[in-house]
Amino acid sequence: MSSTEKHTFQAEIQQLLNIVIHSLYTDKEIFVRELISNAADACEKLRFTQASGVPLHQPELAAGITIVTDEAAGTITFTDAGIGMTHGELVDNLGTIAHSGTKAFLKQLGENQKPDAKLIGQFGVGFYSAFMAATRVTVLSRSFVPDEQGWQWASEGIGGYEITPAADLPRGTKITLELKAEAKEFASAGTIERIIKRYSSFVPFPIELNGNRINTVQALWTRSKGEVKDEEYNEFYQFIGHDHENPLLRLHFSADAPLAIQSLLFVPAHNFETMGMGRIDSEVNLYCKKVLIQAKAKGLFPEWLRFLKGVVDSEDLPLNISRETMQDSSLMQRLNKVLTGRLLKFLEETAEKDPATYEKFYAEYQRFLKEGIVTDFSHKEALGKLIRYESSATEQGKLTSLADYVKRMAADQKEIYCLMAPNREAAESSPYFEVFRDRKFEVLFLYDAWDEFVMEHLHEFDGKTLKAAEKADLNLTEPKTEGALSEAAAQGLAAWLKESLGDRIGSVRLSQRLVDSPAVIVDADKFMTSSMRRMLKSLRKDADETAPAQQDLEINPTHPIIARLEQMRQKDAAFAGQVAEQILDNARVAAGVLEDPRTMLKRMNSLLERVLTP
Ligand code: ADP
Ligand code: MG
Repeated sequence: MSSTEKHTFQAEIQQLLNIVIHSLYTDKEIFVRELISNAADACEKLRFTQASGVPLHQPELAAGITIVTDEAAGTITFTDAGIGMTHGELVDNLGTIAHSGTKAFLKQLGENQKPDAKLIGQFGVGFYSAFMAATRVTVLSRSFVPDEQGWQWASEGIGGYEITPAADLPRGTKITLELKAEAKEFASAGTIERIIKRYSSFVPFPIELNGNRINTVQALWTRSKGEVKDEEYNEFYQFIGHDHENPLLRLHFSADAPLAIQSLLFVPAHNFETMGMGRIDSEVNLYCKKVLIQAKAKGLFPEWLRFLKGVVDSEDLPLNISRETMQDSSLMQRLNKVLTGRLLKFLEETAEKDPATYEKFYAEYQRFLKEGIVTDFSHKEALGKLIRYESSATEQGKLTSLADYVKRMAADQKEIYCLMAPNREAAESSPYFEVFRDRKFEVLFLYDAWDEFVMEHLHEFDGKTLKAAEKADLNLTEPKTEGALSEAAAQGLAAWLKESLGDRIGSVRLSQRLVDSPAVIVDADKFMTSSMRRMLKSLRKDADETAPAQQDLEINPTHPIIARLEQMRQKDAAFAGQVAEQILDNARVAAGVLEDPRTMLKRMNSLLERVLTP
C-alpha cells in the first residue's frame, strides 16, 4: 500500500514556475542564495521559538546550515536544523502562493505574454528558483513541534508534487536538488564555495560546505557601535575591501526613519584612482538582512563618492528584487539621499573634530569632492563646507575652509575672492592681487585649472558670491597721486594706446586697482576669466580660432612706465608703439594668456638694444 499523496500545484504556482525556470534570473546561481536564506530564516525562527519557552523536538540540536555537493551523483543538498515544516506547512508554503500581490500580478499576466523579469522580481519566489537548476527537488522536513512526524515532499516542477511520510528525520529541513544536465557545475564544491562567499558570507548561522566552515566573518554592521573593537573593524574592512591597509575613515551608523538602514562605510587610506589605476567603481554592497542583494550597488551613492567601500543593509528591500529592478527604483533614490547626507555630515564632523585626519582625507580625495560640486547640484552646499584652499591669509601649504575665510572677512568686504595662479609666488606677485593687498581683503589661491570651474559652479558660500579676483569691481583705498599723469594726459594716452594697438585689444581704460604693475588685461566677458580662456583653448587645440577673445587693457597712470610712455609718444611715436606692444604682452604673460612668447623676442631684443645704446 502506497502512502504517497499526489498534489497539483495551485494554478498560479504553475505559472510562476514557468517564469522562474525559463526567464526570471539571468544568474542561475542565485538559487543557492535563496535556499540558504530560507534555511537561515528557519534557524532564526527556531531561535525565537526556543527563546519563548515553547518545547522543541531535539532541543540539543544546534541551529546551523550544512551543504553537501556530490559530483558523481550530480546533486547538491541543503540541510538546516531550523524550525522544519509539518504536512500542512509543506502544502501551504511550497504549494500555494501566500502573497495576494503576487496572485494579482500573475492574473494580469496573460497566457502568452512575455513575463517581465523586472516586475516579477519584486515577489518572493525564492524556493522555486531551485527548479532553474534541478530536474527534481526533494524536501525532507521534520517540524520542531514534538508530537509531529517527518515528511517527504518531492516535485519535478511541472505537474505537481507528492508527499510521503518519512520516518526518523532529525528536526529541520533537507533539500536535495537533482541537477539538470546543463547545471552540473552546481555539484562542484569550488563553484558553490564561491557563490556562498559572494552572497551569504554574513548569514548569522554557521554554513558548512562538505564539512568545511565557509562563513567566518561576522556581519559587524548589525552590532552596536560601542561593542565593536578597532581591530574588528579593520579586519572586516580588509575582508570586504580587498585591501591590506587599514581604512582612513569609517562610519558606522543605523537609522530607522525614513528607512531602516544599517551601514558600515569606509574610506580607504589611498585613492586608487589618482594612483593612475583608472576609474574606480564603488565597492559598497547592498544587503537585506545580511544577505547580498547587489554587489557594488550602482546608484546607492552618487558617482563622486565612488571611492567608498562597505556595506549598506536595509530591511526595507525586497529580498528577491532583481538587479535590473534595483537600478533606478525610488527606493534606491531614497537610500541614496539618506546615505549621502549622512556621509557628508560625517565628513564635516571629522574636519571639525579631527583636522589632521581630515587633512589626509582631503589630500587624497579632494578631486572627488570637487567633481561633486561640478556635477551634482543637490549637495553643493554641504560640499562647499568641505573644500579647502590656500589663501593670502594662510601660510604656504596650509589650507583654509570657506567658513573660516568668511569669519575673517573685512567689514566692508562683500564677496569671497579667488585668484587662479600656477603657484603661491605667482599669486602674490600677480597684478590682480595688488588691490586686495591694498584693501587687506583675503584671496583664495587656486592652483588647479579646474578649481575655477569648481568655484563657478559653487557660485556662493554662506550667502556670499564667489568671485574671480580679476572680475572684482574694487578700487584702491587711496589712489596714489605722486608722479601720476593728470586725468587728461592719462585719457589721452589711453586713446593713443587703443589706436596704436588696434584690434589686438578691446578698449583701453584707466585702472583703479593697480599699485606696482603698469597694466593689466581684463576679459570683457562678464564670466570668463583669462585662465578659463586658456583652458578652453587648450581643450579645443585643433579647432580653428573661434571668435577672438575680447580683452581690455587697464593702465596704471601712477606707474613710471606709463607716465614716461606719455612723454615718449610725443617724441618718438614709433618707439613708443613698440613699448606699448611690449606692455600688452607683459600683461598677457601675467594673465597667462600669451600664446607664443617667442613672437615677442624680436621686439624685446630691439628694446634692449636701444636701452644699451650709450
Ligand atoms: P519566502 O522566503 O520569501 O517566504 P520562499 O519561496 O523562499 O519565499 O519560501 C516559501 C516558504 O517556505 C517560506 O516562507 C517558509 O515558510 C517555507 N520554507 C522554505 N524553506 C524552508 C526551510 N528550509 N525550513 C522551513 N521552512 C521553509
Ligand atoms: Mg525565501
